[in-house]
Amino acid sequence: MKPEFIFFDIDNTLLDHSSAEASAQREIYSQFTELQQVAVDEWLDSYKEINNGLWLQYQNGAIGREQLQRTRFEETMASLGILSERSDEIGKRYMEVYREYWCWIDGAEEALEEISGRYPVGFITNGFLETQHKKIEQMELTRFSNLFIISEEIGVMKPHQKVFDTAAEKAGKLHESILYVGDSYSSDIIGGKNAGWKTAWFTALIEETIENSTADFCFEEYPVLVNFLNGVKV
Ligand SMILES: [Mg+2]
Repeated sequence: MKPEFIFFDIDNTLLDHSSAEASAQREIYSQFTELQQVAVDEWLDSYKEINNGLWLQYQNGAIGREQLQRTRFEETMASLGILSERSDEIGKRYMEVYREYWCWIDGAEEALEEISGRYPVGFITNGFLETQHKKIEQMELTRFSNLFIISEEIGVMKPHQKVFDTAAEKAGKLHESILYVGDSYSSDIIGGKNAGWKTAWFTALIEETIENSTADFCFEEYPVLVNFLNGVKV
C-alpha cells in the first residue's frame, strides 16, 4: 500500500546525533581540565551509560528535563571519582557546543528533498523542546514540512500512543495510511506498529540487533528507502 503520509524521527534517523554528541563531549573534555583525570574514552563511555539510564527515567516520567540535564554530568563525574563544582557549568556548555556539531546523516537530506516532493511529510521527536526548535531552525527543516510533533509539548514520549494519535490527527490521516521512519526499535518501530502505522527501520547507527523485527521495511542507506518508496505499488 502506498503511504499517504510519511513521518520521520529526527535524531539518529535524519541528523547524526551520536557523532554530534561524541564530538561535543570531546570538546568539553578538552575545555574542562578536571575531566582529564580519566582517559577521554572512559569519560565518553561513562557519560553515555549514565545519560542512557537517566533518559529512560525521563522517558518514563520519573524525572524532568532539568533534572536530567543537571544530573547527567554530576553523576558521571561522581562515578569516575572526579570532584568538581562545575558540573552545572559543564552541562550548560555542553548544550551550546553540541549545537555546533549538528549534521545530516549521509544521504538523508537528499532523500528528504526527493521524498517530500512526492509525499506529504512531518517529524516526530522525543528530544528537548528548546533544543529541537533550534535544530529545526539551524538545519532548516521547515523546507520540507511545518508539521513537527515534539513529545515535550504533548506531555508523553514515544512509544506512547498519544504521540502517534496526535501526529495522525494533525496530519489528517488514518493510522494505517501513515509510514514512520525511525532508528529506535523500542520507540519508533514498536510505537508505530502499536499505533497501526507502517514502519521503516533505519538500522545504520543502531548497536543492537533484533531477531524477528516487526518493521515493514529495513534500510541502512537512504537511496534504498527512496527506491522503495518510488517503487511502491498503489
Ligand atoms: Mg532517533
